[in-house]
This record gives sequence, structure tokens and C-alpha cells, in this order.
Amino acid sequence: TSALMSTRFVKPIQAMTEASRHISNGYYHERVALKGNVEDSDELRQLAHSFNQMAEKLEQTETMRQQLLGDVTHELRTPLTTIKGSMEGLIDGMLQPEPEVFQRIYHETSRLERLVDDIQELSRIEAGAYELNLTEIDAVSTIKKAVQFLQPQYDLKAVTINFNPEYTNSYVNADPDRLSQVLVNLLGNALQYTNPGGEVTVSVSNSPSEAVFKISDSGIGIPPEQLEMIFTRFYRVEKSRSRSRGGSGIGLTVTKSLVEAMGGKIWAYSAGINQGSTFSFTLPAAK
Ligand code: ADP
Repeated sequence: TSALMSTRFVKPIQAMTEASRHISNGYYHERVALKGNVEDSDELRQLAHSFNQMAEKLEQTETMRQQLLGDVTHELRTPLTTIKGSMEGLIDGMLQPEPEVFQRIYHETSRLERLVDDIQELSRIEAGAYELNLTEIDAVSTIKKAVQFLQPQYDLKAVTINFNPEYTNSYVNADPDRLSQVLVNLLGNALQYTNPGGEVTVSVSNSPSEAVFKISDSGIGIPPEQLEMIFTRFYRVEKSRSRSRGGSGIGLTVTKSLVEAMGGKIWAYSAGINQGSTFSFTLPAAK
């Protein structure tokens, strides 16, 4: 019987030991074979199955990590190349030390600084390394505060911002700081992608289960086939234009994460280029 025991239990366990050793050495594609031998016990097959699921998760995390590193590298390279090129020109005398040259360098270092801040925020949010204080708050007054906060920037660009709430209050279950962050991000984007003379309208409507927030702008719009992609990190509709406007393509990724962490959903709509955009999100109503 002891010989029988060894083939039934020891072999599969040895296989898993071997596989976990490979995984810990970075070979994330490693799996254990589920041969479905009649003599394999259900418990062992269950264990092998769980093991493979764990390996799959590790492999996914590793892929995401590699993608993030690739994205970050790519984002850092452009401003660095510009800065280095200008500095080289100054050093070897090909570029005159004129204010525009220094301004360009300064501009690119600011971009780098913003990018690093954004990446830090993204990694904090994606790792869930922040506190969420869900309480009953009034969405109407939170929106009013966000609008007030951004009013000077709207005035500066001559874009009108409208908020005429249907109700005096709208109670939701949310984290006040995070809701403000979401609103400021969306209102900031609306301003960024709307030309002077344009208009942005905010609204909130209630149902017994949720509140729906809408931020509509009369801006440059989004091609319909890209509406889903814009929530992906580092995604910009038009690389060069957004880049020169200073966007890193992280804001909406963070915004989406925050809305979902508070139990809501977010989506975008646009009829197309130059047709404006509407960003909507929901939050659970306060009980
Ligand atoms: P960014 O910092 O580049 O604005 P976001 O993640 O906030 O990054 O947005 C991703 C992309 O979605 C932007 O680069 C822009 O192309 C597009 N976008 C976001 N908001 C709007 C808007 N209100 N109108 C038009 N395009 C928008």
C-alpha cells in the first residue's frame, strides 16, 4: 500500500512543489497538469486547480506591471529628449541662450513634474492605498464648491460654467474629498477641451437608489470609437495635441477608479469631433 500511496499523492505534490519553485523564479507561465487520472483524488485535483488559478493571477499582475513600466518609460522619454536636446544646443553654441529656449526647458520640466505627481497618484489609487470615508453627503453643495473652486480658471479662458440644480439637496453615500476630486477632474477636463466662448453644464438627478451626475461641454468632442479607451491610463485622443496641453492621460483612470470604489459607474458620450462631450457618473443614494 505504501508504494501505491506514493504514486497517488507524492508525485502530484512533487509536481506542484516543482511548479511553485519555477514561479518564484519568475517563470509565471508555469502550470501543473491536471491529467484527470482516475486514481488522482478530488482533493488533489482541486488543489492543482487552485494552484493554477493563483499562477494565472500572478502572471496577469506581472504583465500589468511590465506594461506600466513600459508606459512610464515611454512617457518620460519625450520630455527628457527635448530637455537634453536644448541643453546640448546651448552647450555647443548651436542654440542662442534666449528666453524661449529656457522657457521650453522649463515647460518640459514642469511636464515631467506633473507626470511624476500623476503617476504617484495613479499607483496609490490602483493599489487601493488610500482611505475611503463613505458618509452621507449633499452632492449639490459639493458640486457648488467644486464650481466655485474652478470659477477663476473658467473666467480666465472665457468659458461659462452653469449649475442650476433641480433640487436644493441630493444626498449620496460617498467620500467628500474623493467626490470633490472626481468633480474637479471632470470639470477641469471640460475646461481644458473647450474653446473660449464655450459652455459647460453640470447637473445631478436623483432616483431612490442613485444619483446621476452629468458634466456636459460644448468642446472639441471625442470620436465615438475612442469613448471606451479614454479611461485607460496614458490614453489620449490625439497624442500631440493633448501632450502640448499638458495632459498625461491619467486623470480619467484615477477618476474611474474613485467612482467605482464608491460603488458607482462612469461613462462618456460624444456625438463626435467638435460636438462636445458628456461625462456621466452615478453614486449610491444615501439610505
Ligand atoms: P489628460 O490629462 O490627457 O486630460 P485624462 O485621462 O483626463 O488625461 O483624459 C484622457 C483623454 O480623454 C484626454 O487626453 C482627451 O483626449 C480626452 N478627453 C477627456 N475629457 C475630455 C473632454 N471633456 N472633451 C474632449 N476630450 C476629452
